[in-house]
Amino acid sequence: MRHRYLAPAALAVSLLLTVPASAAEPSPGTPGVGDPYYPDYGNGGYDVSHYDLRLKYQPKNDRLSGTATLLATATQDLSRFNLDFALDVREVRVNGRKAAFTASGSHELEITPARTLAEGERMTVVVRYSGIPSKVEVNGYTSWHRTPDGGVAANEPEAAWWWFPSNDHPTDKATYDVSVAVPDGTEAVSNGVLTSQRSQAGWTRFAWRSDQPQATYLATLAVGEFDITTDETADGLPVLNAYSENLGENENAARASIERTGEVTEWLQGYFGPYPFNAIGGYVPDTDTGYALETQTRPFYSPRKFAQGANVSVVVHEMAHQWYGNSVSVSQWKDIWLNEGFASYAEWLWSEKQGEGTAQELADWVYDSHPADDAFWTVKPGDPGAENQFHAAVYDRGALALQALRNKIGDKDFFAILEGWQQERSGGDAAVAEFTAYAEKVSGEPLAALFDTWLYQPVKPDASASGAAANSGRSKAAAPVEPKSWRKIQASHQHPHPH
Ligand SMILES: [Zn+2]
Repeated sequence: MRHRYLAPAALAVSLLLTVPASAAEPSPGTPGVGDPYYPDYGNGGYDVSHYDLRLKYQPKNDRLSGTATLLATATQDLSRFNLDFALDVREVRVNGRKAAFTASGSHELEITPARTLAEGERMTVVVRYSGIPSKVEVNGYTSWHRTPDGGVAANEPEAAWWWFPSNDHPTDKATYDVSVAVPDGTEAVSNGVLTSQRSQAGWTRFAWRSDQPQATYLATLAVGEFDITTDETADGLPVLNAYSENLGENENAARASIERTGEVTEWLQGYFGPYPFNAIGGYVPDTDTGYALETQTRPFYSPRKFAQGANVSVVVHEMAHQWYGNSVSVSQWKDIWLNEGFASYAEWLWSEKQGEGTAQELADWVYDSHPADDAFWTVKPGDPGAENQFHAAVYDRGALALQALRNKIGDKDFFAILEGWQQERSGGDAAVAEFTAYAEKVSGEPLAALFDTWLYQPVKPDASASGAAANSGRSKAAAPVEPKSWRKIQASHQHPHPH
């Protein structure tokens, strides 16, 4: 700045004209990222790049304790910020200094650092905590599944609050190192690669690394008595599956499904492009839940999924999510069709490959199974509402929408879109409108009416106008026959409904 003499009046004018308004005071980050379905999920003011979780878990009493170290960057001048968390916190440090903290809202940890942070400044946040996650209820429930031999964190959209503090929204993905000590004879399973397993003084510590961006709800932890199988795919990917030692009569069917994860992944690469992560596998804990979840690299499967025998369709669904949902995540939870419609459609493609019903036959079956006055048609897959986020319509009508698209633009463009979208958006997040714009770009066709019909109208679409059920060649009078694959596909669609 130049120094020169100015008459007082000129000085005042000069200040008014040339001095910018003083920089805004550092302010608190918002207690949510602005997701319309879940306004207090995630937080504003910073971005997490890595979670380091060093934990200890005692299956006898369900006690979890440890330290979470978050590497993050302030995205504004920050006086205070929130994490989403429900267990008891003993101490918080930000960049080495003790920080003040308090619980607020239903699952917020409000942190006031000793020094404010400048926009762009890196911060290391250390949180020491403990709790009995099965006893901690938020909004009337716990996502933590207590099992006879331990516990499991696997739920959607809420799972992290019961085992680590986070910025709990898919728009803030990060890498993970998860290290958990459990009593000898017990296993701790998480995402990615098992980098070490060491026993000392009666406790075995399992260290896991997930080295690609991962959403918080896709981080998982399962402690229990597991039989672990390891292998390597032809492409060199490490395979690790874990089966509870107490699966009883479901054990063989579970193995006959999940041991085919490598084959399924290789097949899916033909549609979606290279597998996006550093490992594959699956795990089946001793839970009484009914759903499966696409936890990153290593899906969670309930034993009940295999009560009627092997179900490879559910493996196809969860592994398809590794692309559609995990590598490319929802921007907001209302974009859930980008996950479930596509994972369901992958099952239709698998059915076609197995000769158990083509995608068109499945489309005809779904379309015909629901009469026009069925409430099924009132749920809009493109914006189903929080209460219907995992409604059957998001899956089945969601897959129908893709069959309608395929019929409209032809196989060449359709499959180019399935793969190209993944390559373009890998590691990030996306909204439904961005996908539909991409489909228009690749196909060169106006598609607004088609997507509006299938994703946004709360009525049964007119088949002749839409393309689905139009190319099946069957007479309109004849009811479609149930495809052989349908029961397995239907059985794969039970999703968490925790509240
Ligand atoms: Zn799914």
